Amino acid sequence: MSCFRRIVKTMLLLAAAVTLAVLPLHTVQADELLSSSVYIIDRDNEVLTGVSAGTSAARLVSCFENDPSGIKLYGRDNKAYTGNAVATGMKALLVVNNIQRDELQIIVHGDVNGDGRITITDYTKIRLHILSHQKLNGAFALAADVDKDGRVTLSDYTRVRLHILGLKHINPDKLPLAGCVIGIDPGHQRHANNELEPIAPGSSTKKKKVSSGTQGRFTRVPEYVVVLKVGLKLKTQLEELGATVIMTRETHDVNISNVERALMMNKANVDCWLRVHINGNNDPKVYGMSVLVPAKGCMNTKDASVQQKSTALGQILVDCAAAESGAKNLGIKPRSDQTGFNWSSVPVCNIEMGYMTNEKEDRLIITDVYQDKIIAGLVKGFLEYFSE
Ligand SMILES: [Zn+2]
Repeated sequence: MSCFRRIVKTMLLLAAAVTLAVLPLHTVQADELLSSSVYIIDRDNEVLTGVSAGTSAARLVSCFENDPSGIKLYGRDNKAYTGNAVATGMKALLVVNNIQRDELQIIVHGDVNGDGRITITDYTKIRLHILSHQKLNGAFALAADVDKDGRVTLSDYTRVRLHILGLKHINPDKLPLAGCVIGIDPGHQRHANNELEPIAPGSSTKKKKVSSGTQGRFTRVPEYVVVLKVGLKLKTQLEELGATVIMTRETHDVNISNVERALMMNKANVDCWLRVHINGNNDPKVYGMSVLVPAKGCMNTKDASVQQKSTALGQILVDCAAAESGAKNLGIKPRSDQTGFNWSSVPVCNIEMGYMTNEKEDRLIITDVYQDKIIAGLVKGFLEYFSE
């Protein structure tokens, strides 16, 4: 080594030593990092995975263990994001006392183009990557590795296809309702069916196949419209948490009797199902939320635990939905005259979200804001029911 080089080397070592002495010893505290029991944090890549397509910013923030006020989401345009579809390539930041403590890039498996959805475009992008026509990089390559084996292969391509076809959800593990099968029956339909059917197997007592339901005394909005809207929104949220959801109807133009609705749920062997209704009363002063549950001994099974589970579910749902929406909690009401209960061999209950004959509840129940509060309560209720 020449003399000059030796001097340079000594100076560099000296500079390094000085730098080390000047820098304060700073160890990162655990509470200075983002942490989540719902999502997976990969510190090697500094990414957050396990996020389902269609997750809202609010829900994502609520799934961190940190104080939500310190969590900021930024879109790929570096603007604060508060929308309804968190996408691959966005960032979650932890900011405490105006100092950024942590940053993770968000990976939505299957969302390869960063639009927050899993569509045919993502499927095509994965194909082009596999064929080496157009390589995916960084977060987008990680999002394409749906089976998490570290490579983007035909297996990922197939899984994205199955997801798009609705045959197999991409992100089934780690979600709190993974493996749960929930039925939702939005009550009534556009046209009542006044033909009769037995209210229980072998019963001589008969009721209308599908009654017309109630209608807003003040808003004139029919019950069947509101309950379908609530049912579909609830479906989306439960699916986001990993549940498989079976709907009795997704449009108004069906003709499915109450016996048929129960038999659909029996056949699908759902873990439980919820009938969604709104009440009516001649007295406009009557208001409040209740849940009807099957009375003892009237279900389509000899297994007494099915009725007990129905009652437990009903109690949890009415308590959570009333608490979240601020509705008056009228509790659970055991009934033996409900065709949908008597034919069911799986746990079931029926929420009556309020009274459309009461002016205040009629005007509230048709708004998205109020519906979303009820739905948030129902989601909490299902999480509690399935955690027991
Ligand atoms: Zn009804």
